[in-house]
Amino acid sequence: MSARPIYLDCNATTPVDEQVLTAMLPYFTERFGNSSSVTHLYGWEGEAAAQKAREIIAAAINATPEEIVFTSGATEANNLAIQGLAEAYFHKGQHIITVATEHNAVLNPCKYLQSLGFEITVLPVQEDGIIDLKQLRQALRNNTVFVSVMAVNNEIGVLQPLAEIGAICRENNIFLHTDAAQGIGKIPLDVQEMKVDLMSLTAHKIYGPKGVGALYVRRRNPRVQLAPQQYGGDQEKGIRSGTLPIPQIVGFGKAVEIAVADQYQENQRLVTLRDQLWLQISQLDKIYLNGHPTLRLGGNLNVSVAGVDGVALLSGLQPVVAVSSGSACSSAKIAQSHVLRALGGSLDLTHVSIRFGIGKYNTEEEINIVAAHFISTVHSLRKQSNLV
Ligand SMILES: *Cc1c(COP(=O)(O)O)cnc(C)c1O
Repeated sequence: MSARPIYLDCNATTPVDEQVLTAMLPYFTERFGNSSSVTHLYGWEGEAAAQKAREIIAAAINATPEEIVFTSGATEANNLAIQGLAEAYFHKGQHIITVATEHNAVLNPCKYLQSLGFEITVLPVQEDGIIDLKQLRQALRNNTVFVSVMAVNNEIGVLQPLAEIGAICRENNIFLHTDAAQGIGKIPLDVQEMKVDLMSLTAHKIYGPKGVGALYVRRRNPRVQLAPQQYGGDQEKGIRSGTLPIPQIVGFGKAVEIAVADQYQENQRLVTLRDQLWLQISQLDKIYLNGHPTLRLGGNLNVSVAGVDGVALLSGLQPVVAVSSGSACSSAKIAQSHVLRALGGSLDLTHVSIRFGIGKYNTEEEINIVAAHFISTVHSLRKQSNLV
């Protein structure tokens, strides 16, 4: 078997689209200028390219180009939002609300702030992975500075009710930050309608390059102040110093343009493939779907299987299909993820969880191969171990 495994880990990362690569290439070589150089063509070309990407990304979330701050990805955007707000509004309060199923790039900056004396409320989720709005309302305090709730969960794919959360925050004059790393280009995002004040984005989950992302920062009604987290040449209005990586930014813009143009149709196709996969593998005994069955991302399927050893299952799957167990960040250990633990209730923690992330290059034929291989792997492991 020399063929490479079928890639079904698109919630971890995606390959760069050929059109994205083509758009990027000139900016590595002849158009290599520093976008801060204002005295010559090379600089102007870089600035124009960054501006075009800014416009595309802003339009995708109904923001204005001045509200986009380029970063190295969603991790940096989350850190900038969370630490930047906490520092800028320290005098006004010190309470922050987030959710147990957030990415570690949100939870860990919050933990850091807790070590500095901020009070953090970590809201639980319901068994379907979605927060209870009543609990959010109850958690609000007079000194709450902001709420951080992700748009789409990276492990179980569930969609949080952002517009409702935004309305609650706005009524109470509390900022709303959302990590939309898994949402951009996949689900409709509108910072006005959702009343989101800060939104973290990244390129590499939508066929753009790794190492580039952005933070949307609301500039009007209300204007959000952020303390910079790095100081230097005052790029990005002083909020995020550092020479802009123009090739990556061009790739990010192109990736968003392609994804948004095709968003609705591609989502339908992914839903169909995902449902086909689930229809086939749910013929197995003792297999469970994690997360809300319909309020979820098109290409995401997260299942728990009883009666198999996790390491054996993943090693049996990997020659044929590249998937992950929980979050990519913790899959080396195959530990139960904090997200699945947070679902509590019905979830048996001795089960193995597998995340399938279907993307735009996957075909129906691949889904059928994966389903058949998954079923036969589980059958043979169960036979060996007599666990079921
Ligand atoms: C991938 C991901 C991140 C990290 O983004 P990077 O651009 O890789 O730093 C953060 N949050 C979520 C929800 C993600 O899926």
